[in-house]
Amino acid sequence: MRIDILTVVPGLLHGPLDHSIVQKARKKGLVDIHIHNIRDYSNDKHRKVDDYAFSGGAGMVMTIEPIDNAISALKQEREYDEIIYTSPDGEKFNQKMANMLSTKNNILILCGHYKGIDQRVRDHLITREVSIGDYVLTGGELAAAVMTDAIVRLLPGAIGDEQSALSDSFQDNLLAPPVYTRPAEYKGWKVPDILLSGNTKLIDEWNLQQSIERTKKLRPDLLE
Ligand code: SAH
Repeated sequence: MRIDILTVVPGLLHGPLDHSIVQKARKKGLVDIHIHNIRDYSNDKHRKVDDYAFSGGAGMVMTIEPIDNAISALKQEREYDEIIYTSPDGEKFNQKMANMLSTKNNILILCGHYKGIDQRVRDHLITREVSIGDYVLTGGELAAAVMTDAIVRLLPGAIGDEQSALSDSFQDNLLAPPVYTRPAEYKGWKVPDILLSGNTKLIDEWNLQQSIERTKKLRPDLLE
């Protein structure tokens, strides 16, 4: 799949997307991620991308033209399944949406900054608005990085053991069971006996039981 990200602060994305699983997936050719600076699409000689809000008040608003130029240029190259605007008032991002987006071929993510973007971009140029939670970030870049990370780790082959992504929290609406590693005892703190039994059938049952109990206790809403 291919993910294009439009931003005025590319540096905020390079860090998160140049490491670990996402970087490996890029190297393996599972995902092609392109980060575009919206300023490169500004016709202004100072590469301006914002202006004062007609409604007044503090804070600048991202202008339409550079964003339209950027989206139009990219759309000429390929068809996008989704053109997403990151926004605190958007639909809440979750594992279900990550699963859905991971099956797409081409996704474009537009990161807002400052006070936000001209409403007409939202009305005419995008297909979906997504929030990563009920708090306000400085820009959409961290939201785009969060979404990209969650999507990319679902791509077949991104995680060494494919089962691993499927057994994560929220898949099947269950939280993941607790996990332990060596040593089997540390300062008297013991790993549950069953995990040392070597009986994979019993261990699988225990994992499921723990998942259910943990979900009941921590996130009963998932079981409704
Ligand atoms: N004035 C806006 C917030 C602007 S924050 C409001 O009150 O709704 C600047 C940019 O950061 C936004 O345009 C958006 O792209 C991004 N952003 C902020 N919080 C976000 C969140 N929770 N999820 C996704 N994007 C967010």
